Amino acid sequence: MAAVDEPELAEAHLRQLLGSLGLDVNYVRGQANTLYFLDDGREHAVVDFVGGYGSLIFGHNNPTLVAYAKQLLDAQIPFHAQFSYHPYANDLATALNRVHRREFRTDENYRAIFANSGAEAVETALKHAEMDRSIRLAALGEEIHGHVEEAQAAVAAGSAVVADHAYDELGVTDRSAGALERLVEAIHQHNEPRFLRQPLFLTLEGSFHGKLAGSLQLTHNSAYRLPFRALAAQARFLPFDQPGAVEKVLDEERTYVYDVVMRDGVVDVTERELPVIGGFFVEPIQGEGGIHEVGVDMAQAIRAAADTAGFPVILDEIQSGVGRSGAFFAGSHIGLRGDYYVLAKSLGGGLSKLSVLLVRDSLYRPDFELLHSSTFAKDAFSCHLGRKVVEMLEADGGSAYGRVIERGARLRAALERIRSTFPDVVKDCRGRGLMLGLEFQDQSTCDDEIIASNARNGLIGYVLAGYLLREHRVRVFPTASASHTLRFEPSVELTDDEIGQLESGLEATCRLLRERAGARLVGAA
Ligand code: PMP
Repeated sequence: MAAVDEPELAEAHLRQLLGSLGLDVNYVRGQANTLYFLDDGREHAVVDFVGGYGSLIFGHNNPTLVAYAKQLLDAQIPFHAQFSYHPYANDLATALNRVHRREFRTDENYRAIFANSGAEAVETALKHAEMDRSIRLAALGEEIHGHVEEAQAAVAAGSAVVADHAYDELGVTDRSAGALERLVEAIHQHNEPRFLRQPLFLTLEGSFHGKLAGSLQLTHNSAYRLPFRALAAQARFLPFDQPGAVEKVLDEERTYVYDVVMRDGVVDVTERELPVIGGFFVEPIQGEGGIHEVGVDMAQAIRAAADTAGFPVILDEIQSGVGRSGAFFAGSHIGLRGDYYVLAKSLGGGLSKLSVLLVRDSLYRPDFELLHSSTFAKDAFSCHLGRKVVEMLEADGGSAYGRVIERGARLRAALERIRSTFPDVVKDCRGRGLMLGLEFQDQSTCDDEIIASNARNGLIGYVLAGYLLREHRVRVFPTASASHTLRFEPSVELTDDEIGQLESGLEATCRLLRERAGARLVGAA
């Protein structure tokens, strides 16, 4: 307990903002979809639809997982046993592969690199993709170098001559003695900066892939990203649902270097395509961007482009994966198979901080294991829990996925009722399984100044969250990058009563929005 005169040092600024919205509640206990806070020495229950931003597919403190965690602690499994054999990590990787094989009807294995958070796994993917690209770049560079040396030797030996086309192409006008060396220098001048260029990553508008130095460059929201854009390689953000845009970007970014070819005693130059695209990051269902599922045509365009151009599709299933969509991998609903996957959030069962990068066997670079490491990654506790989570999802022929679909449909029906009753206030209802979003109409020109100013400041979703918490004991949040979309990511234990409580809370919220009763929404009237 902090002394009375001690300043608050852990993100006091954020706490103040939360306080102004009535959201600075100290939750002391969590169970299933309920969080409890204390008031007057009594516990008060709040129904939690935030679910740790999608980290709680089995709810807060799931009894099976808690019992298992206790068993692991009682057994004194070592948390720290770095640089030793970790069969439990292998067990989890095997379990993930088994699920992947079924959902994507493939028998190719994926190798696993463990990490601790979502962004860390995304950055591990960035690193692996770049390692792969740099190895391919180096191989191309060496090949070109070899061709140049062969040509130089052949010309010196008088067994080859340089074609005029080669000089013309590189703009070498002085063809007197030493012309070949000038040609080689011109090739070098052209190629070198291209080889040294930073990789370009592709992703979609609305994407969210994390907030660390590298992953942030893949997160579309410019408020988060722009102050830190100088820190790492950049991404291009493609329109969310324009399959034609994928080919267009590849055409725009296509980069060539010069190589030398020798045919029938004639040395000429030719263009070789450089691998400039580091990878295409995709959330099959965007979470923080406002709950948007990628369309089948877009998925096919991305997959086809990656196959042709030779860069990996990196599926970020951090929020959409681990059962939340009604399948383990949300990409399986749209037939989008990844070359890499990143998983986190629910994989840790709500009790551990676990993430993983999966890389297709045929693309895996084993040396990565010698270059990359993370002190806490691959610990026994988290890996055992992760494997238990996969087991619980897969038990009884995958009945948990069925429950996600059934509970999701119930929840969705309630949200659809809200939408059809309040079309003037609610714009759309989207999502899949237990990953649903309710988009509100833009209120920035509302004639209630409280509502309008909060909408303009991107706080309207938080105002609604504050009202629902205060008046209805329901905890919801907007998505991070689309503040007028509320997200609903409860656990599979969701009850009809909890849905009912949410529905009546949302009804009251919508009525107040319709009546332009901003003061009541913020608790000032
Ligand atoms: N990717 C996606 C799709 C996410 O939803 C998130 C977190 N919301 C992240 C990456 C980053 O995860 P973390 O906050 O654990 O770094």
